[in-house]
Amino acid sequence: MDRRGFLLALAAGVAGTALARGAAAPDAPPAALGGPAASPGPVGDPVARWRQVHRGVPGVEPQEPPAGVVDALPGEGDLLALTIDDGTSSEVVAAFARFAADSGTRMTFFPNGRYRAWEDNAALLRPLVDSGQVALGNHTWSHPDLTTLGDAEVAEEIRRNRDFLRSTFGVETPFFRPPFGAHDERTDRIAADLGHPTIAMWNGTLEDYRVLTAEELVAAARRWFSARTIVVGHANHPTVTTVYGQLLELVAERGLTTVTLADVWATRR
Ligand SMILES: [Zn+2]
Repeated sequence: MDRRGFLLALAAGVAGTALARGAAAPDAPPAALGGPAASPGPVGDPVARWRQVHRGVPGVEPQEPPAGVVDALPGEGDLLALTIDDGTSSEVVAAFARFAADSGTRMTFFPNGRYRAWEDNAALLRPLVDSGQVALGNHTWSHPDLTTLGDAEVAEEIRRNRDFLRSTFGVETPFFRPPFGAHDERTDRIAADLGHPTIAMWNGTLEDYRVLTAEELVAAARRWFSARTIVVGHANHPTVTTVYGQLLELVAERGLTTVTLADVWATRR
């Protein structure tokens, strides 16, 4: 199904059917993207790979990832960055990966490596990471409030997850998102020392920190989806997987273009 067909099918309320049909596709990704058989293998230089993969999208000139906090997209474009955190549910991470593959939606995941979802779905996600459609950021290994930990523990949480992202997906990311958004100058400095100069916060939310109904989640999207918004959501509860079509309609209706954070901030020295 082409993208327009997919959108129409979703609009017609057959998202389940479309996603179920799409579910077969990741079993046989195009050879050019490197299927499961081609991964994981040695990762080479993760920074070089990151640069190679994230060449940006047409009309968006990627800038150097800034040092410090970002909480909105720069520039004047009608860009929307969907950023999805945690991954406590393997099924929800799988649904997000299939949604991305089927719809072409660009998004950034902030996994916690302690959740099996990321390893379970690495074969689904890796082609999307390889093509640059999906970018990754570090969200710590086990999701603690870093401001309550000592320096060594903060560093270990960040380092362990950095190494996990590197070995599982073959990239090193400049982006760090502190769990609960809890950070200070000390934790920011430790993250920067470990290769994450950009503290990626947000200025929009799916409000799914708790379990929402489908109606509540769509209402949150209606409230927050707008130009230059970084929207935070979670791959934890299945509600979001039932409203992908409505989210896409909203993106289209408002003339927004989805981008990864790496489409916007990609160049690393
Ligand atoms: Zn989180």
